[in-house]
Amino acid sequence: MAVPIVRRRTAALAAGLMVVASGGVAAALSTTSASAATAGCSVAYNVSQWDTGFTTQVTITNTGPALTSWKLGWSFAGNQQITQSWNATVTQSGKAVTAANLSYNGAVATGGTATFGFNGSYSGTNTSPTAFTLNGVACGGTSTTPPTTPPTTPPTTPPTTPPTTPPTTPPTTPPTTPPPGQKVDNPYVGAKGYVNPEWSAKAAADGGQKVANQSTAVWLDRIAAINGVNGGMGLKAHLDAAVQQAAGQPLTIELVIYDLPGRDCAALASNGELGPTDIGRYQTEYIDPITALEGNPAYAGLRIVNIIEPDSLPNLTTNAGGTAGSTDACATMKANGNYEKGVSYALAKLGGLGNTYNYIDAGHHAWLGWDTNLGPAAQEFYKVATTNGASVADVQGFIVNTANYGATVEPYVKITDNVNGTTVRQSKWVDWNYYVDEQSYAVGLRDKLVSLGFSSSIGMLIDTSRNGWGGSARPTGPGATTSVDTYVDGGRIDRRIHAGNWCNQSGAGLGARPTAAPATSIDAYVWVKPPGESDGASKAIPNDQGKGFDGMCDPNYAGNARNGNNKTGALPDSPLAGDWFSAQFHQLVANAYPPLS
Ligand code: BGC
Repeated sequence: MAVPIVRRRTAALAAGLMVVASGGVAAALSTTSASAATAGCSVAYNVSQWDTGFTTQVTITNTGPALTSWKLGWSFAGNQQITQSWNATVTQSGKAVTAANLSYNGAVATGGTATFGFNGSYSGTNTSPTAFTLNGVACGGTSTTPPTTPPTTPPTTPPTTPPTTPPTTPPTTPPTTPPPGQKVDNPYVGAKGYVNPEWSAKAAADGGQKVANQSTAVWLDRIAAINGVNGGMGLKAHLDAAVQQAAGQPLTIELVIYDLPGRDCAALASNGELGPTDIGRYQTEYIDPITALEGNPAYAGLRIVNIIEPDSLPNLTTNAGGTAGSTDACATMKANGNYEKGVSYALAKLGGLGNTYNYIDAGHHAWLGWDTNLGPAAQEFYKVATTNGASVADVQGFIVNTANYGATVEPYVKITDNVNGTTVRQSKWVDWNYYVDEQSYAVGLRDKLVSLGFSSSIGMLIDTSRNGWGGSARPTGPGATTSVDTYVDGGRIDRRIHAGNWCNQSGAGLGARPTAAPATSIDAYVWVKPPGESDGASKAIPNDQGKGFDGMCDPNYAGNARNGNNKTGALPDSPLAGDWFSAQFHQLVANAYPPLS
């Protein structure tokens, strides 16, 4: 482990020519002769560094007239790259850096100070700068001519989202984000969420202005998504946009890792591009380039959440042989071990980075909630997290309800309820499950996982993007106590025909907005499935992504063993999985719960 070195650099106090500029540095310089005033500044530049990174605290002392705004400029000598800042907007263009005051710390009296800080990365030598300019005029020199390398380059891509509510008391140290290399316990606490500009634009253009500023996950659903499909944003573009949105503050960006060989083995709607044996391509053409991008020091200030391979390990547990719901495709993936190898590889590679947080997909309550499924699933997760180079340290937690519709909490049905002495577990809907909703399932699963050897610090995520179940059909109290079925069916907010239905559900609404630490053991409510994106096509649609037609997306299909041979409850006329489904989006908005305000 590298031992941090602490160094101190203090530029000499000196007088110089200064313009109090409210505009850019270049403008200030061009009016120097007209509005020059005597000024001065000194700068204390304190560095703590380790082998590849550093934290700097800068204190400007104003020895000239009072300031109403300030911009401090300097040039790095080496390849230092600033990744994150606080108490100033810090922009870097090559070696030139400009730090500008925020709204709350622009005023500095004569003799007063302003302090800000930043994190950065470097290789080689991290030489501290000794020459600074304040509002375009050199600190530490008496010359009235502009510095030879003034930081006249304005930020090429200024942050699009400035912090909306600056702290009333400026923090003096970066409170919640540790230096690169140290992970926080819950990456959502104290962080904003990345707003995917592409999803946001679609939502806003389709009547969803009230939710267009919500954070949704970015799905890397094929190799081409890394560079961007059809001119769309690739991973680098998203990470760059995330840095801009972060504007020096903690920000969480969620990426869905979703391209396993033989993907979606128990369904057809999201079959993928890689065949069952393509594990080599998965590793070298998919996970490796994603790892390289996530590991770029330019993104070291982001909190990168990886949602690992929805449905894959749950399918190995319940659908890979010996059950009514089993498929040949899942049996193949269990036999060849490529889901397990792929997930272990993803965990190890992505988990090895300093600022990444892996959450493994763990199905939902109506899939793994029975003890006969939960125990084996937990063992499967543990096996995959401890083999092929992965370790439990690569696992921040698990996510439940990804792209599904299970209620977070059923307010009027508890698993412990009974009707005239008969447990609700005996109702047709609950069908002997041990859970009726996602939050109780998440907590129960977490306990099991910790008992098997996962860290007691793991946390759970719940995808609440489409599990609101508002609108006029939402029950307002418990069902009639005529029988367990009238009680459960009358009181449950989840209005599906069967809890095994998963495709474009009729009646669903947007759920709880993304929220950090909403309940014990829950790291966050998240919107992983971007609302408005289809779960699958209601009829066969030719495509080059490997996606098939699954009857579960056809409202007229009679069902299969995995939904108790019930009708599917799918909306009609749906497009391919992932494509924009306007009618569904309108329904989700109309039935949002909590309602949109
Ligand atoms: C699709 C993906 C899509 C994702 C998010 C999945 O069902 O297969 O292509 O990116 O949903 O909408």
